[in-house]
Amino acid sequence: MPLIIKDEYPETFFRKDGKRLDGRDLNELRPIKMEVGVVENADGSAYVEWGNNKIYAAVYGPREVHPHHLAKPDKGILRVFYRMATFSVFDRKRPAPGRREKEISMIIADCIEPVLFLELYPGTSFEVFIEVMDADGGTRCASTTVAALALADAGVPMRSLLSAVAVGKINGKKVVDLSGIEDKAGDADLPIAITWYNEEISLLQFDGDMDLNEMNDFLDLAKDALKEIHQIQLNVLKSKYVKLQDETKEKQKEEKKGDK
Ligand code: UDP
Repeated sequence: MPLIIKDEYPETFFRKDGKRLDGRDLNELRPIKMEVGVVENADGSAYVEWGNNKIYAAVYGPREVHPHHLAKPDKGILRVFYRMATFSVFDRKRPAPGRREKEISMIIADCIEPVLFLELYPGTSFEVFIEVMDADGGTRCASTTVAALALADAGVPMRSLLSAVAVGKINGKKVVDLSGIEDKAGDADLPIAITWYNEEISLLQFDGDMDLNEMNDFLDLAKDALKEIHQIQLNVLKSKYVKLQDETKEKQKEEKKGDK
């Protein structure tokens, strides 16, 4: 039996009509669907389907810090645990958290921290557990975005949401939101996160080969995509509260009926 190489690189990443192989325009995001309140036992949670990525985030806190020596007397701490399930990728992935997962956990915590008021929670921790169930490129950005949503769902005071997306270059063309195969075969990959209260970049990584002059074009490309992602996050949160409001009204109506 021949060995099936699922991720064999195609000869070209663009169709004759200029679109990408999955039918997207250069500046088009993959389909994104988000939900909140998906984990019953967490203080807050969220789920995202972003192209073929499927990712959960669950938030606990503020709560006691374990191990105790990590606690800070003057502020709370944010701990992020990004994990990719062993079945989330085609290649064999070791079940134990590797260096990549530790690095991604750290950069997600660093870029989320500015939006939190950790100074209000001395001696405690907020913990964000991120589980990637299916991975197809851009999981650190999708995870950052869904983690922010889970924190908001938990009612953690935040200066704003933050959103993240990767932009990059494939065969010399600038594209937004690289899929797994585009990420691996592309010339450059630039994950970016933005904190909306001050519109500052809180994550900027770079992998590949890129002219410094191209940076502004990449930032412009990312900004439009980030605005779209932010709107999806806001809509999801808004619909949670509209639903809650409708349920409360319905309950009140029922109670009134019962009184008569
Ligand atoms: N990937 C994989 N095996 C691994 C790690 C990553 O197949 O052990 C794939 C996965 O689809 C991931 C993509 O490679 O989304 C790109 O990984 P990268 O480290 O660039 O992070 P990401 O783009 O997901 O933020």
